[in-house]
Amino acid sequence: TQWVYNFGGGSAEGNTSMKNLLGGKGANLAEMASLGLPVPPGFTLTTDVCTYYYDNGEQYPDDMNDQIEKGLSHIEELTGKKFGDPANPLLVSVRSGARASMPGMMDTVLNLGLNDETVEGLAKLSGDRRFALDSYRRFITMYSDVVMGVHHHTYEDILERHKDDQGYMLDTEMTADDWDVVIKDFKSATKRALGRDFPQDPMEQLQGAVDAVFGSWMNERAIVYRRLNDIPAAWGTAVNVQAMVFGNMGDTSATGVAFTRDPSTGDNRYYGEFLINAQGEDVVAGIRTPQTLTKVAREEMGDDAPSMEEALPEVYTQLAETFVTLEAHYRDMQDIEFTVEEGKLWMLQTRTGKRTARAALKIAVDMAEAGQISQEEALLRVDPMSLDQLLHPTLNPDAPRDLVAMGLPASPGAAIGEVVFTSDEAETLSKAGHKVILVRVETSPEDIHGMHAAEAIVTARGGMTSHAAVVARGMGTPCVSGAGDIRIDYDAQQFSVAGRTIKKGEIVTVDGATGQVFFGAVEMQQPELSGDFAKVMKWADAARRLGIRTNAETPLDVQTAKDFGAEGIGLCRTEHMFFEADRLGYFREMILAEDKEGREAALSKILPVQREDFAAIFRIMGDLPCTIRLLDPPLHEFLPHTEADIETVAQSIGVPAKELMARATDLAESNPMLGHRGCRLGISYPEIYEMQARAIFEAQKAVAEETGVTPVAEIMVPLVSSAKELEILKGKIDAIAKDVGALDYIVGTMIELPRAALRAGDIAEHAEFFSFGTNDLTQTTFGLSRDDAGRFLPDYVSQGIMEKDPFMTLDQDGVGDLIQIATERGRKTKESLKLGICGEHGGDPASVEFCHRVGLNYVSCSPYRVPIARLAAAQAAI
Ligand code: ADP
Ligand code: MG
Repeated sequence: TQWVYNFGGGSAEGNTSMKNLLGGKGANLAEMASLGLPVPPGFTLTTDVCTYYYDNGEQYPDDMNDQIEKGLSHIEELTGKKFGDPANPLLVSVRSGARASMPGMMDTVLNLGLNDETVEGLAKLSGDRRFALDSYRRFITMYSDVVMGVHHHTYEDILERHKDDQGYMLDTEMTADDWDVVIKDFKSATKRALGRDFPQDPMEQLQGAVDAVFGSWMNERAIVYRRLNDIPAAWGTAVNVQAMVFGNMGDTSATGVAFTRDPSTGDNRYYGEFLINAQGEDVVAGIRTPQTLTKVAREEMGDDAPSMEEALPEVYTQLAETFVTLEAHYRDMQDIEFTVEEGKLWMLQTRTGKRTARAALKIAVDMAEAGQISQEEALLRVDPMSLDQLLHPTLNPDAPRDLVAMGLPASPGAAIGEVVFTSDEAETLSKAGHKVILVRVETSPEDIHGMHAAEAIVTARGGMTSHAAVVARGMGTPCVSGAGDIRIDYDAQQFSVAGRTIKKGEIVTVDGATGQVFFGAVEMQQPELSGDFAKVMKWADAARRLGIRTNAETPLDVQTAKDFGAEGIGLCRTEHMFFEADRLGYFREMILAEDKEGREAALSKILPVQREDFAAIFRIMGDLPCTIRLLDPPLHEFLPHTEADIETVAQSIGVPAKELMARATDLAESNPMLGHRGCRLGISYPEIYEMQARAIFEAQKAVAEETGVTPVAEIMVPLVSSAKELEILKGKIDAIAKDVGALDYIVGTMIELPRAALRAGDIAEHAEFFSFGTNDLTQTTFGLSRDDAGRFLPDYVSQGIMEKDPFMTLDQDGVGDLIQIATERGRKTKESLKLGICGEHGGDPASVEFCHRVGLNYVSCSPYRVPIARLAAAQAAI
């Protein structure tokens, strides 16, 4: 088996299509090498090694070590250096690289191969002993931390103490003699902590680092990250061993990260940060404040330090050319890591750049309009769920505000919440329903759960490519990074800035688009849905076959959904209309009435209000179809439950409390979800449905007269399990229609019970349409209740019994089968049968794809999901 793949010197054994085997980093290093870009030579240990390692009790394949030695020879040939040779030492980095990018989750070791002898060789060769020692101390710190498990604080403390003693502010003030002292202390610290010496044998160092990278695949934060991002543990990571290049060789050396376009806005201009005389992770770690890449960016930020364009103009030009090459090759925005060694550019990584939703839209549209990608590709480039970020409010620019701090606009969006200072607390409070803003000096991979729970993140340190910024953009969470003026006191649980103190629990507003933090809650405004968003939606509408409707009943929701592009209402739940104060009284009267006359008298008081409800909806929707579901929940839901409530209600409707109590007890069910609800109410109390039908038809007539447009009413009967139920109820609805002289209407049913799905052939005799109520259909198919499933669903998901929560994403195998059966049987009876879905699943992209595949006519979802469903339906059709 080939466990090792070489790259470098203008060619490579791998390429970008081999991500599964080589990991993202390894595959792209190989690709860049083949493109002739300057990539330090190296080799990749495949993800198969990782799988083998974990399948075989953490043992490596027998033939791997030979291959590693050949890999090292390959690097030695290309660099003319030798691993472990004191006269001419080769140093390498050992870098993790999984299939899916997991930024900062796993470990990297730089400068490996240094020891007390080779460091002197490096000093001689470079003519710079200080540089060699700087590299060595970095190596000891990283290796001890990552491989040997001694926390890097141990070494940072030693360094800080030394700097204090000498009165230094910056690491760059350290002389070679200073480093000699510090390195000696570092080595003793390792020995003290572990009882053994820092390893001097480069091969032993390499083995240790490889073990550590494979081991880091199973560390806590990697496991959490995989869980949050749906990355299977079985994928494994690859390990890249690569010749070191040095960004810490003086003022013509540097290291940096860049994006070929702005990952925040999507603007087509280079974007990045770099540090002169620095190595690797200095940029991301936020230890020094990085400088800008371009002159324009420096001017905009009012930065004093020169940009790379100004400080290193020649390498900058070469870098910019490389951006063009890479974008043209990958046909997408790239996220790049590079190092400059004494004026020479080296490429260390490229990958498709993570971006905000807004940037994703802009980049897709720009690239399609420039002819770089097709319109279809552009549609596929935008994650439907990410659109959610764009649909939500931003700060109202005219609203009064009280600025407390200013940092970098690291991830856009606005949020309001209580200040918290630890990730654990962020998680706990958010679980308890609080909205929290996580405020940290800086974040690290251990903070993932807190960042996930927070509405927004604020850090005191770190740049636009700091951990907080990168992760927040990926999550779509607003973030302000590097708010340098705030002083956080973790012990006192507060931060202070410009003479003010903000304590834990106080409310702040964060605007990630401007980098501002305000005291208190600032008023928000509705999003702007024009521009790129409108374009992508237009393209999506042209590409999709599925219709998109909404689940809405209040005029506000109906209007919102229509503005978002809903082509009708797929589910208007009429019971919500009964819960408003005055009607609830009438409705309770109806429930308490002794006989049909009494019930009709009470219902006749509800009729005019209900008619007005429907009229309001019809007015907004014009000639778009409106599916109105007749009353569904069991009656006892409308009655008061506590003794005090019963007392008040009894008084207000003028019945003895005892009687009310008795009726409530009478209506109580042990299993209301499977009880007297839906069409079963209509069968027992037809006057309820008759009143609702009348209200619908009368509203329709009134609005038609008023506007000249005839509303399209689709009356939906819930919880049907047999054709007979629907036949009886449809008969009653038709009779009312005749009585009123109804205009345009059809009658159909929800399919939300397995029996209804199976008997769809008969049911279709009486229905013009079916709407799959997948919430109930999921409950009844699995025989589990949504309200109780929370206790055990997580176990089912974690033990792999269910892949996902079936209430979030449709169970295509089981529930999906029923949908397919009902579709076939229903259409066999009635070819013109209209089919839709109106559960929560209507707005879940994977479920939308399923609905497209089985040939439904439309999906219906909550208003804010409408744009998501439009795009998902287009992607399904492409
Ligand atoms: P991550 O996946 O966390 O980004 P990397 O493997 O990319 O980790 O390494 C982090 C940084 O270390 C890189 O961005 C780069 O600056 C530096 N680095 C890695 N390998 C080398 C190398 N061979 N020479 C110089 N710097 C390197
Ligand atoms: Mg990297």
